[in-house]
Parts: sequence; C-alpha cells; structure tokens
Amino acid sequence: MRVLLVERDAPGSAQSGRNLGFVRQQNRDFRELSLMIGALSIWEELEAELGCRVGWQQGGNLSLAFSEADLVSRRAWQQRAAEEFGLDTRMLSAAETHALVPQLATDCGVVGAMYTASDGKAEPARATRAFFDAALRAGVAFAFGESVTRIETSAGKISGVQVRGRLYRAGTVIIAAGAGSAALLRKTGLNLPQEFIRATVARTVARPEPRIAACVSGQHTGIRQDLNGAYLISVAGGEYDLRLDSWRHMRRYEATRKSNPDAARIDYLAPIKRLFPLRVHLPVADFPPSRDNPHPEFFRVEQASREFSRLFKTLADLQIETCWAGIIDTLPDVVPALGPVEGIPGMLVGTGFSGHGFGPGPMAGKVLAELAADRQSPVDISALSPMRFVRN
Ligand SMILES: Cc1cc2nc3c(=O)[nH]c(=O)nc-3n(C[C@H](O)[C@H](O)[C@H](O)COP(=O)(O)OP(=O)(O)OC[C@H]3O[C@@H](n4cnc5c(N)ncnc54)[C@H](O)[C@@H]3O)c2cc1C
Repeated sequence: MRVLLVERDAPGSAQSGRNLGFVRQQNRDFRELSLMIGALSIWEELEAELGCRVGWQQGGNLSLAFSEADLVSRRAWQQRAAEEFGLDTRMLSAAETHALVPQLATDCGVVGAMYTASDGKAEPARATRAFFDAALRAGVAFAFGESVTRIETSAGKISGVQVRGRLYRAGTVIIAAGAGSAALLRKTGLNLPQEFIRATVARTVARPEPRIAACVSGQHTGIRQDLNGAYLISVAGGEYDLRLDSWRHMRRYEATRKSNPDAARIDYLAPIKRLFPLRVHLPVADFPPSRDNPHPEFFRVEQASREFSRLFKTLADLQIETCWAGIIDTLPDVVPALGPVEGIPGMLVGTGFSGHGFGPGPMAGKVLAELAADRQSPVDISALSPMRFVRN
C-alpha cells in the first residue's frame, strides 16, 4: 500500500517518545488484555525485527500491596487473568517481594505484591525512533510539521485528508492523533468524549548499580530504571486542564473525579499557565517536544520523589535531573477506541489509550494495518470499538 503519515510536530514529540516506558499486561482492563498479550509477543522480537536496540528488557512488573484490601483486589485480577488468559501473574508474600527487589526498604509497609514475570520495559524515545526509521525503509512518506485539518468524505466514504488547504486523496484514513483525535473526529460526526490529562514524569541522575529489572508500581508512583541507570518516576493521573471539552464531557468523568480526586485534579489556571515559558530545559530525547508544550507540575515531582525515597531509602539521595509532562488522551472507560467507524467506509481509529498505550502500541499498529488491508484483526478488539460511545 502507498502510505502517507501526517504528523503535526515530529514522531514521538507527544506521548510516545516521552512516557514512562512500562510494557505491562498486568492490571489491565480485561477488554484490552488480548491486545496487550499480542503486543508483548511483538515486543519480544522487536529489536531483531527493527534491527536496533529499543531498551527492551523483560524484567517483570511488580505492583506492591500495602493493605489487605490491595491484596484482595490484586488477587481477583490475577485469578481471572490466569483462568481466562493463561497469564503468568502470581501473588508474592512480603518476604518474596523483598527477595525479588532487595533494594526495597524493609520498613516501607509492603505486605505482598502482584508480579508478572513476562512483562517488560523499553525506552520510549528509542522505540518511537526505531519505528520511524523502519517505516522510512519500508517506503512510507512523511509530512512533518503539518496538521490534518479535515477528514474528507465523498458519497459516504473516506476520500482523503486536508492538510493546510491541500487535499491528499486516500481510500483509507487512520486517525491516530493522540490528544488531537477527538477534534478531527468531531468534524466527521463522531463525538469521542476524550479528555486530556497532563501527566508529569521526573528523571533522577543515573546510578547504574544496582540494577532493578522490574517496573515497580507503589501506592501512587510508577518507577522504572532506564538503560543508563537513571530512575523515571511518575505519579499516576495528573491535571485535567480546563478547556471547552472539560464542560462538554463533565458528566462522563464525574465518577473518576470522585473516586480519585488527586489523580484527576481540574487545573482551572492551566490556560494562564500555558502563557509562561517552560522552566525546564534539559532535552528528554533527540526530537523536539510537541507544540502543546505541556508544563510539568513540580508538586507532582515532589509527590513521586517522596514515595520513591520511602520505598527505596538507599536511593533517596539521587537528585532529580529533569522533569517533563505529556498530555494523556483519556476516555471515560479508560480503554482505547480501536477499529472502524461504522457508516464511514475507510475510516479507522486508534486513539484514547488513556495513559497506557505505549505497551500495546505495536499490536494496535498491526491491528490497524490489517484492517486497512481489509483483513481481520489478529486479536479480539470487539470491546474497543469507537462506536461504543455513539451507542451509549
Ligand atoms: C507521562 C506519561 C506516561 C506514560 N506512561 C506509559 C507507560 O509507562 N506505559 C504505557 O503503555 N503507556 C504510557 N503512557 C501512554 C502512552 O505514551 C500513550 O498511550 C501512547 O504513546 C499513545 O500513542 P499515540 O500514537 O496514540 O499518541 P501520541 O504519541 O500522543 O501521538 C499523537 C501524535 O499525533 C499528532 N497530531 C495531533 N493532532 C494532529 C493533527 N491534526 N494532524 C497531524 N498530527 C496530529 C501529535 O503531534 C502527536 O505526535 C504514558 C503517557 C504519558 C503522557
């Protein structure tokens, strides 16, 4: 097929190049677990397939439990994942958890954990770059620094996209524009209730030894040691920056806001904050940040650092080297919208990964490629249809 990729900034400048780098099946919504299990088998062969290192390491994913209630909920997930999907997730006692990650402070309050040995991690910037290079080699054409402004249809079918007044004709259009997707889809009549969450990540200076292979999730904070030995830390959730859509979709996000107000804080001052320049300058990767220029929240860096230091006391002296933010494109049910748009032949959607789309990304791409070629999806995506919001 002849493929054109239109990218408003540069590939990886938004979420894909700057996320935390967890590649986990663990604790996923069961509606997206087949997608992720399929993705994992791609990750396992990815460095060989793309011919370069993407920092893939199958070091497992460890979700710490601090109370009986934590253990109960994790055990319920683990049992269903084992029964229905044959996943290797198991529950660990406190002693087993400390044996697996001896760097965990003995008095950090861990009563056990859920552990999935087959989960892994990768370097987001390297991985995104590797996909871009592979696409170039495969003959994909790119238009960088250009925004799609309109999806064109004719006689009820997709006919192309408008890019700054220029029409690119196409029989198939895949809308996979992250936080930019809902605005494009709205013009075609599909109202995706997508919200933005501004999530902050911090990176410590490197300390190559000891190596902690597993990605670790504490009470609020995700922790991953990167290829160079630095730790990436990030508090789950973030700021819902005030915009017009915040009012439009208010009702759909009420439950989330009530259940976890700190992780879903509305930032009423965001439109003003965006007018100020960023205070952090260290580059995260070799490509420029997205033009949205999202500001990291320093109190989130402090929250994450506090929990990191409490869990890993021997690493508490590590300085924070830099921090950044990314705009998560979330949906009310926190699973992606992936598949065709009914009633508009040729229109495919892959968006709304709700803060955990780096892991399933390779399989989401494969699914969309197969659908674009009029073949079946290789994994079950029946519960992920973008039409579920239309039918609601
Ligand atoms: C801080 C943070 C931490 C995360 N941690 C993890 C993690 O550990 N594990 C995990 O699995 N996931 C994680 N995620 C989520 C993951 O990064 C995303 O789900 C995934 O990268 C989404 O990929 P995408 O291609 O759909 O969107 P993006 O990577 O956001 O890319 C969308 C692209 O579309 C472009 N675009 C937008 N509008 C237009 C337009 N009109 N025309 C042309 N181009 C347009 C943008 O410039 C952008 O480059 C995290 C996200 C963030 C922000």
